[in-house]
Formats: sequence, structure tokens, C-alpha cells
Amino acid sequence: MTVLLGNGVVPGIGAGPVVRPIPRPTVPADEQPVQPDEGAVLFTAAATAVADRLASRANHASGAASEVLMATATLARDRGLVALVTKHLGDGTGLCASTVAAIDELSAMFAAAGGLMAERVTDLRDVQDRIIAELIGQSEPGIPTADVPSVLCADDLAPADTAGLDPATVVAIATSLGGPTSHTSIIARQLGIPCVVGTVGLGDVAVGTYVLVDGALGEVVLDPAADLVATRLEAATAAGEAAAAWRSPGRTRDGHGVDVLANVQDGAGARRAAGTQVQGVGLFRTELCFLDRDVEPTVSEQASIYGEVFEAMWGRKVVIRTLDAGSDKPVSFATITNEPNPALGVRGMRLGWRDEGLMDRQLDAIAQAAGTAAGPVWVMAPMVATEDEAAWFGAKVRDRGLVPGVMIEIPSAALLADRILRHVDFVSIGTNDLSQYAFAADRMAPSLARLTDPWQPALLALIRTVADAGIAAGKPVGVCGEAAADPQLACVLVGLGVTSLSAAATAAPLVGATIGAATLQQCREAAAGALSASGPAEGREAARAALS
Ligand code: PEP
Ligand code: MG
Repeated sequence: MTVLLGNGVVPGIGAGPVVRPIPRPTVPADEQPVQPDEGAVLFTAAATAVADRLASRANHASGAASEVLMATATLARDRGLVALVTKHLGDGTGLCASTVAAIDELSAMFAAAGGLMAERVTDLRDVQDRIIAELIGQSEPGIPTADVPSVLCADDLAPADTAGLDPATVVAIATSLGGPTSHTSIIARQLGIPCVVGTVGLGDVAVGTYVLVDGALGEVVLDPAADLVATRLEAATAAGEAAAAWRSPGRTRDGHGVDVLANVQDGAGARRAAGTQVQGVGLFRTELCFLDRDVEPTVSEQASIYGEVFEAMWGRKVVIRTLDAGSDKPVSFATITNEPNPALGVRGMRLGWRDEGLMDRQLDAIAQAAGTAAGPVWVMAPMVATEDEAAWFGAKVRDRGLVPGVMIEIPSAALLADRILRHVDFVSIGTNDLSQYAFAADRMAPSLARLTDPWQPALLALIRTVADAGIAAGKPVGVCGEAAADPQLACVLVGLGVTSLSAAATAAPLVGATIGAATLQQCREAAAGALSASGPAEGREAARAALS
């Protein structure tokens, strides 16, 4: 059996024959030039037809799927695109070739902007293919309708395709490209389809090959033995049943309490999370509310946006994070442009340090919204590096009568967590960035996923340092990075002394159930085994042995 390794982004098992998307249309070699005016009319008609179809599919979808389809439809309607196409038509270029040239130009601008904008290049290419197919009268490229439950494999998936996926016929997804925050991952997570991205060697796997995708281990197994498929499917079914049966509050089998919380990005997400057993929100990523804003929202507008989350979580705790703008999450009104290395630049709390008014206005808005909250409101800052920064932020939050904390996602902060905890009431570890900065490995790069693997013993050693500081100070230490969504790793974190775990609402119940099946002593043994392992694979094995 050949096992291809990638980055598991949605846990679960799916097995079936490989299907691949219908290929992109090609620009006809014998294309003739057309008059710019006439070409612009033809282009607009084709782009409008594509946008209308996408918008209609958006209306039949829900949640993130609908948003992705609508965002792609908006790209197809972009007036700037028509202007670029017209410019190339004026050079005597054919209509399809002008479309490609225009999208090339727009893609280069998006790629240069970096972060989330760069990830939208896939959306632009998707729009290009759909418009060209429309112009030359071909059927739209995309996912074929399979007769049997199948595994969808691709280089990367166009958002419009992933948004329309039916989990009954597509039982798993594997891609060669993409990262944990790419559209493929977001939609797969929402639909609950097991998914592995950044899979090395996937391009050589032929259509029809029978494969097994393990979204927890990040594996694609070619021609798996029947008993392997049966064992893994059985385990996945048992996990699903355990998650459905889990009831809060989170605690180990012998009663050691661990808060199980949800990560949300807006009121809609909080309302969905409120429908689960989670005890509250452990990370409200406020910057994600403002990705499309050019101008900073007023204090009262911000307060009403934050208030939606407090209301959805009525009576439950909410940990709200101040703007983590920059790097992979650019926000026009806050982010500094043209930094040579945005991940190491002025992002997160550093923006508020540089422009204190921005931080003050957001804290005022949080305080205003918190005035009507029924549960505790804790406020934390992202990307804190020093004790001074923690003291500065802690004082501002306390001045407004709120509970201050900071995120630990930079190794300098992990190493001196004991001093940071003198100034704030809690810390929450962002393992996504903590591993990026500890390993000098871009969290978005699939080729470096083995370094940013949250089971890396060095990352666990940093977490232990922070947890020890929390225990000594008698203050809570949470984890809100993706590490908290891995049920076995969650047990390891509990064993290290972490007091709360915050994950996507779809992942949290299984985390609660898995902790509930282990004793604190087992969690401690799993932690000791994973910490002293030579690497992630040995660590997973040691934890499995301790927890079984
Ligand atoms: C993290 O870095 O782990 C984290 C939770 O923050 P974000 O993923 O939003 O950067
Ligand atoms: Mg982070």
C-alpha cells in the first residue's frame, strides 16, 4: 500500500474511487481579433451569465458555501475586469486571450497583496475558466457527477465547485495544493467532508484508483487493504457517535474540569456554535468581521457586531480578541501595505501599539457591547511579544472593567509567560502562529507542514512552559489554535496543564468526548510520551498507547 502524506484539515475517513474535476477550457489557437466595443459587450454578456449562475447557486447554498459562491460571482462582475479586457482587445488580441491576459494582470495584483488576497487567485482563475467556457460554448468546467461515492482529487479546488459539493457523493477530498485556511479547507470543514490538502504525489494518482482518505492523520492510502478501510471507518463512526453523545461541561473521566469552547468569527458562527454543547467562545476573531472594509467601523457599529456574539452566547463565556489584522488577514483600514515580510511585520497588537486610537476605539466598542452581555467577557490581544506589551494592554482592558488576557503565539512570550501573567488574568496559546514562529516555517506552506505539525515536541515544550506558568500563577491557560481541534492532542494539552480548549464548533464535541473518555493520569502519560518523542509520528503513537 502506498501512503501519500498531506495536511489533514477535516478529520474523518472516506474511501472510494478517485474523480477529478472536468478540465479547464483552452483558448482556441485560431482566435481572431474583435473590435474592443463589440468584444466588451460579448465579454460582459458571458461574465454576467457566469455570475448569475454562481449567484443562483449561492442562493441555494447556505453559510460559508453561499458566501464563497457570492464572492466569486462578484469577481465575475468586476467592472475593472471589463476595462482590462477592453485594453487587451485594443492591442488586437482575441477575446479569450484578452480574458486570460486581464485575469493574469489582476492575479498578479492579488498575489502581490499576499495573504488572503493571494488565496483569491484560485477564485479568479475559476472565473476565467467559466467565462472562457461560456465564450466558446463549452459546458462549465468543474466536478463531474459521480455514480458511486467517490474521493475528489485535484490540484486545488475552485471555490465555486467546493461550495456545490454533495457529501453523499463526495465522501472525501484530497488536493495537491492549498493550506488549512484555503477555500477548499473552509468549505470541506463546513460540509463535514474529510479532507487532506497539500498532498505530496497526488498528481500521479489516476482517475478510478481506489483510495482511502484519513483527514485526521493527513493520509491518502492508495489501494488500501479491505481490513484497513473497515477498521478506520469503524473508528470514525464510533467517534461520530461519541461526539453526538457528548454533554458539557468538559471534564476528564475522573472529573478534572477543562472548558470546551468554540472559535467563531461573527454572530452567525456564534449562533451555530450555540446550538452545540460548547461552554462558550474561546476565540472570537474580530478582524474577520472587517476583511471587506476600507474604512474603520465606528465604535457603535463595532459594538453592535460584537454584541451579536454576546447575545448568541447568552450566559456563556466569550473570549474576544482584538484585531489580528495583517499578514494572512489583511484589513484595509488597519494593515500596513508593502511590508517586505508581513508575517514578521506590524500585525496584530503591534498595529494598536503603533496607532493607539485604533486599539482604544475597539476596546471602547467591546466594553459597550459587554455592558449588555449575560456571560463573562474576556478580552485578549494577539501577537504579544513582551512583558511591556502585556502590561500596556492589561491596563487598558482593566480600565474598562473587563478581564484582560493575551495570546501566546510568539516564542518570546511563551518563554516569559510567568512574567506576562503578572499583568493579565489569563493567556490563550495560538498554536498556529506559535509553531510558525518557533520553526521559522510559513503556516500557509503545505511543503512545510511537517514542521508546523502541532505534535512537534518543541512546540509541546513551549506549551508546557506556558502551562507551568499558569499553574504557578493560579491563572487559566487555554489553547485556541488548530491543535485544540485534534482530539488526541487535546488530551496531551490537558496533560500538560492547559485549562481550556477552543476549536471549530464542528470539531469541539469530539474533543469533549475524547477528553471525557480519558483520566487525567492518562492525559499526563500521553503528554509525557508526546513531549519526549523524537517527532510527531512517534508522539502520536505514544499518546495513542497512553490513551487506549
Ligand atoms: C493561532 O495563531 O493559533 C490563532 C489561533 O490565531 P490565528 O489562527 O487567527 O492567527
Ligand atoms: Mg495567530
